[in-house]
Amino acid sequence: MAHTIVIGAGQAGAALVARLRTRGEEGPITLIGEELVPPYQRPPLSKAYLLGEMEQPRLFLRPESFYADHDITLRTGARVTGIDRAARTVTLSDGETLAYDRLALTTGSHPRRLPEAIGGDLPGVLAMRTLADADEMRPYLRPGNSLLVVGGGYIGLEAAAVAAKSGMKVTLIEAAARILGRVAAPETAAWFRDLHRAHGVGIIENTGLTRLLGEEHVTGALLADGREVACDVAIAGIGIAPATELAEAAGLTLDNGIATDLRGQTSDPAIWAAGDCASLPYRGQRIRLESVQNAIDQAEAVADNMMGAEADYVPKPWFWSDQYDVKLQIAGLNTGYDRVVTRPGEGAAVSFWYYCGDTLLAVDAMNDPRAYMTGKRLIEAGRSPAADQVADPATALKALLTA
Ligand code: NAP
Repeated sequence: MAHTIVIGAGQAGAALVARLRTRGEEGPITLIGEELVPPYQRPPLSKAYLLGEMEQPRLFLRPESFYADHDITLRTGARVTGIDRAARTVTLSDGETLAYDRLALTTGSHPRRLPEAIGGDLPGVLAMRTLADADEMRPYLRPGNSLLVVGGGYIGLEAAAVAAKSGMKVTLIEAAARILGRVAAPETAAWFRDLHRAHGVGIIENTGLTRLLGEEHVTGALLADGREVACDVAIAGIGIAPATELAEAAGLTLDNGIATDLRGQTSDPAIWAAGDCASLPYRGQRIRLESVQNAIDQAEAVADNMMGAEADYVPKPWFWSDQYDVKLQIAGLNTGYDRVVTRPGEGAAVSFWYYCGDTLLAVDAMNDPRAYMTGKRLIEAGRSPAADQVADPATALKALLTA
């Protein structure tokens, strides 16, 4: 029987192997992961887990027994060092070689690190990507300590919210003109800037980091404008890069990640890819969708296609972020938007609707789950309500669906 090997035991890898069994795959399946723990959820790492409101076992996607019960060999603490496509084998760091018939790469991504030359390797300069990263940060979360966050993406903002809630003094610096520059409109960025400032977080935009200060441990930072900020710990939330090393060494085609077709197959028909590491064709370009929902959906689509479904993957993007008592929900992809329409909700709720011409692309909804659901349904149905109706709170959300 055909042996399937999946390299990378994150959200995508775990979803892929489970789906293969659900779809009736009877051959042996091996899931290989470098970390010592079974596959776990990452979103709580910068939220409830960091805050100490959720303990480790609840992070695990499935109990460890699940894998044995489903005849899935889970190899944790194992690193794949090479793929031999001609021999159809993978080699582990201890020299062991495993033969595959089908291989899936769900290797995820690496957080970008601040350069060593500017103190990026000082103790106390942390990333926020793995369980180990969150565990390293947790002891610092106490009143009186100060945190420097480098990077104003969702990682940085979520970590800043948790730290501020824990009584830490928080400063966030963003090199670009504004926070959330890569992922959201100025309206959404302004809303979160105000929210953080109201919680006492110092947000400094348009200002680079010259270097981190400290000898044995980080003690602060010198900013490009000459200012110095003191800190007890620093978090770098400066983005991620797809983990493509194995694919590259094996000679697979790369293009903004491991290039796949719409079915998840790489340039080698025996090798598939899904999740953060994989790029797929989308409206004439290649995109990677860095989200949990995509990791799961794409991995399940790959499992289905490994089982012969021959179905193209159609992304239905949605994201969320929790900061303080705010839930941000995002439907759709805003790539290519040319205007943003604001829709006031009840109380402090608000939503921002992204359009390209008359086409609705995406919705960011703050504490407004009904606006989010309405936007999601419209986007998935390929329908675009008139912008003036969206902007008018007198037009009921229901009416937008039936207009
Ligand atoms: P991100 O979204 O790429 O944001 C990183 C930010 O840091 C960017 O604004 C970037 O600006 C800035 N930056 C880069 N280098 C800098 C420097 N030297 N000094 C100051 N600022 C710098 O990435 P992230 O926040 O690290 O998150 C990593 C991934 O996890 C992303 O895919 C993110 O979407 C995902 N994530 C999602 C959620 C959620 O959905 N709730 C939560 C956490 C993380 P430039 O763009 O100008 O480089």
